[in-house]
Amino acid sequence: MANKFQNPWEKNQWAQDGEEYKKSAVGGGTEWLPEDAAFFTGVNPNTGESVYGNGEKDSANDSIAQKLNSFASTFRNVLARMYRKSTYTGNKPEDISNNIPLKEVVEYGHHFIRAKDGSYREYQIDGEYPGTLVASSQVYTIIQLRPYSYINNNFVKRGESYEIEVHTHPTFDPLVNNYEGSRNLAPSGQDIAYFPKFKDYILFVEAESMQFALVVINEKKSRQRLGVNKSTRIVDEYTRFLNESSESPAEASINAVKKTIGQAKDNGIAFYVNEIKSKPDFILQN
Ligand SMILES: [Zn+2]
Repeated sequence: MANKFQNPWEKNQWAQDGEEYKKSAVGGGTEWLPEDAAFFTGVNPNTGESVYGNGEKDSANDSIAQKLNSFASTFRNVLARMYRKSTYTGNKPEDISNNIPLKEVVEYGHHFIRAKDGSYREYQIDGEYPGTLVASSQVYTIIQLRPYSYINNNFVKRGESYEIEVHTHPTFDPLVNNYEGSRNLAPSGQDIAYFPKFKDYILFVEAESMQFALVVINEKKSRQRLGVNKSTRIVDEYTRFLNESSESPAEASINAVKKTIGQAKDNGIAFYVNEIKSKPDFILQN
């Protein structure tokens, strides 16, 4: 139904001397079809779905994009604080739980819960925390986020739901590492494979000047196609896509995510990119 629906005015399907046209508001009549509302709202009232379909790239008609824009705006200061702590200049010895020297960046993690009224809150005020796993290069500390069940069982009240996890992808210190090669990297193969696959759940990445989000739109498909049981294949494919690209590291990582997760309608995960953190405008990529 939703896929077949078209705005009859826009497509010029109604002959102006036809009965349907004469009965319509444009034709001078007063009888409206319920679908006419879509002309103004972009939503088919019979199905509640967007009339623009999955290929639509205009965030104004995308409710998930609107949710992400709103989240990024509301928590701008919290996200900026997390990023600042992640970088070399923001590191404090007490931030680092396993005595990593200061000349390192460290990913930070945080969790957000949707309240009864639809707004979001931090699971704990100022609850962000640093990663503790040191990557093999010994210069980059990655986060192992607290498990879904831990957050869900300990911090979610009645009527609320746990929906968003955030982690940072900080840029390396230019004095000691590959600065350009680490800027604005999209979610990794591990991020894709291991994040919880619950309906509406969002993995959100805060990078230097960009933001990224993976959104579960179909729980069953996302688990079947991109679940943790597929982690080896996902990480291998992602790495291959990343390495065969000649684009900038940021572009290559975005394309690796797109190729690895495929179409949102097929595999259940939608991928959004916001190119300018200070002005949230998340655009669907797949
Ligand atoms: Zn990551």
